[in-house]
Amino acid sequence: MTDFAADSILVLLDVTPTGELASSAAGLLGAASQVGTPVAVVVGGGDDVGAAAGALGATVVLTAPAGDGLTVPATDALAAAFALVQPDAVLVSNSIEGRDVAGRFAARQSLALAVDAVGVARDGEGVLAQHSVYGGAYNATSAPTFGPLVVTVRQGSIDARAEAVAAPVVDALAVEPSGKPAATVVSVDAVVEASSRPELRGACKVVSGGRGLGSKEKFVLVEELADELGAAVGASRAAVDAGYIPYAHQVGQTGVSVAPQLYVALGISGAIQHKAGMQTAKTIVAINKDGDAPIFDIADYGVVGDVFTVVPQLIAALQADRAKKA
Ligand code: FAD
Repeated sequence: MTDFAADSILVLLDVTPTGELASSAAGLLGAASQVGTPVAVVVGGGDDVGAAAGALGATVVLTAPAGDGLTVPATDALAAAFALVQPDAVLVSNSIEGRDVAGRFAARQSLALAVDAVGVARDGEGVLAQHSVYGGAYNATSAPTFGPLVVTVRQGSIDARAEAVAAPVVDALAVEPSGKPAATVVSVDAVVEASSRPELRGACKVVSGGRGLGSKEKFVLVEELADELGAAVGASRAAVDAGYIPYAHQVGQTGVSVAPQLYVALGISGAIQHKAGMQTAKTIVAINKDGDAPIFDIADYGVVGDVFTVVPQLIAALQADRAKKA
């Protein structure tokens, strides 16, 4: 039987519908390596997930079949792994599925749950979760009163990466199905994305547009800059409500939370509900014609100007720079 390190951190890795590790895996294992020894649980992955998780820093990879029913098999597998490993903390992606599994698991085990963490740390008593709260106005740290903390980690928020483990131990996990009620997946229709742009959730770079773009037709400017930078496209709720772009692109309190390396806000005022979803971006660039717009309070770089004047010049400069390097 595999021995587990005394400071093991159990990490549930999401898998894509095609059986590969989701992009959140690197940050989760990186976070785990900062506070202990990463042990991965992968439910329903393909043959290569053990090696892939090792390359991202998992010392041990426990695999389990996908099973029937949404999130219950993953919760059962996490519970089995938890009993086996007895970790100091459990890290799960703050994805839709991850949040569901983390909630079910914490309730079943009567453990404290810290959601949407942007970092983890350890003190003399155990693992702590760090959060960006009230629209990013405050940083808060949460700690459990007792027991290991279950943490959902915001995708893209952790820069740390674990050292690769060349030959991780890959073990099949024995899972006793709990028989808890679960929705059953009857069929899956893959949505074919016509776009080659990165997905918003977890993207390294995001260019977002707001009401300042003025119309659906003019919102194309946001997409042009995003394509030039290789960025995902985001939007404010006002832009979504006005029909410039579908809701899936909304960033903020009632949309997607992002933590990219670069966030460019075009014609966005910076309402607290928008900031709640992007304030943890590493570098924020804002272009707005109103010098008093609140977005400038959190921007690292700001341009007071009309997006229709500034952005075409920015795109031209980026293209010239690329041509020079080619
Ligand atoms: P505005 O506030 O109208 O700002 C437009 C900006 O564009 C202005 O600053 C203006 O100076 C600038 N501008 C105009 N023309 C130009 C130009 N040509 N060049 C440069 N700048 C220009 N909002 C979200 O974004 N995400 C959420 O998830 C979200 N959730 C919400 C939840 C609740 C419960 C509530 C009450 C609100 C929520 N909102 C959310 C809405 C939020 O309060 C704001 O109304 C919204 O973010 C405003 O979007 P905006 O900045 O695009 O528009």
